[in-house]
Amino acid sequence: MYGKLQDWLKNELKSIEEAGLYKKERIIVTPQEAEIGINTGNEVLNFCANNYLGLSNHPALVEAAKDTLDSHGFGMSSVRFICGTQDIHKTLERKIAEFFGTEDTILYAACFDANGGVFEPLFTAEDAIISDSLNHASIIDGVRLCKAQRFRYENANMEDLEEKLKEASRTARFKVIVTDGVFSMDGNVAPMNKINELAKKYDALIMVDECHSAGVVGKTGRGVTELFNIRGEVDIITGTLGKAFGGGIGGFTTGRKEIIELLRQRSRPYLFSNSLIPAAVGAGIKMFDMMTETNELQDKLHTNTDYFLGKMKAAGFDIKPTKSAICAVMLYDAKLSQVMAEKLLAEGIYVIGFYYPVVAKGLARIRVQISAAHEREHLDKCIAAFNKVGKELGVIK
Ligand SMILES: *Cc1c(COP(=O)(O)O)cnc(C)c1O
Repeated sequence: MYGKLQDWLKNELKSIEEAGLYKKERIIVTPQEAEIGINTGNEVLNFCANNYLGLSNHPALVEAAKDTLDSHGFGMSSVRFICGTQDIHKTLERKIAEFFGTEDTILYAACFDANGGVFEPLFTAEDAIISDSLNHASIIDGVRLCKAQRFRYENANMEDLEEKLKEASRTARFKVIVTDGVFSMDGNVAPMNKINELAKKYDALIMVDECHSAGVVGKTGRGVTELFNIRGEVDIITGTLGKAFGGGIGGFTTGRKEIIELLRQRSRPYLFSNSLIPAAVGAGIKMFDMMTETNELQDKLHTNTDYFLGKMKAAGFDIKPTKSAICAVMLYDAKLSQVMAEKLLAEGIYVIGFYYPVVAKGLARIRVQISAAHEREHLDKCIAAFNKVGKELGVIK
């Protein structure tokens, strides 16, 4: 039988390659940080990691992970409700709730699981999920696993959201507005103040995925509820420990306590998947302690982002309006985005060009991600490389 499938697979892979959509992986041979080594022997500056706070290889987190290996072992060999809950899992859940100003938290292996397991236990065919069109793939999958009616509004478009809320109000028992906090391709932030007003007006719940916003936006990095001064007003927040929060692994849902309690009873990725490894939990606890003690890293990230955006705009690059550490340098042409990324790599700058189907047709770009791990000289080198390559390719004058 495999022969038939194999032929089909070979064809499929060839057509992906021919369409220019084949994703090749560059190989890094060092820890994840601002300066990385790749297997070609080159040292490059990393401008495409979600390492927003520069914590991926932070000595304090490495040490906390090692200490927890010693104190709590390597694996859990269990889901949470059988014998996979240690004291540290409860501590981390509490610290996440304190950070976001919520009532309780449930941990998952990843945010993909948190989003995959949040809708089905809470909403049925009587209910309506009203989702932003640019929401993350894991939200889309989570919604698919649930029988609720689905409504999709245009990205951050509040007139469209209101239309969908009116429509949903005719029949739905519960309504929930679902949005990413920061949208990963443009770096724009969801207009949470307006979403909150509409939620009140139409009696809807709010769920926000803070993967790209927590640790990043808001004066102290508390995410979009801090940025819009609506702490405690969002019903459900999901997030990851795999981006700003250390870059390791782990996801969570935090919010109203009865919601979290029901998820512990019914959320399938929680009930039927292994408990988070102690080392990741120990590093997570250390990370939230650090964020509570000081805003140094958030401040540095904000200073770095402002500096980089200012210089890039002054150089004449077309940058998508952003409120985050994501800077989308618009090129529009898919081929150009690939050529430019390759030339930048040759200049020692590791960035990736994104094009259809990751972004809409004709909206190809290079996405730059700024980090607190970047020093001023890193930013200057990146800006200089963009200037040089941008001129060579006629992107700027
Ligand atoms: C990265 C990301 C996820 C997935 O997080 P993991 O913990 O890596 O599974 C979910 N939602 C959004 C918006 C993301 O950016």
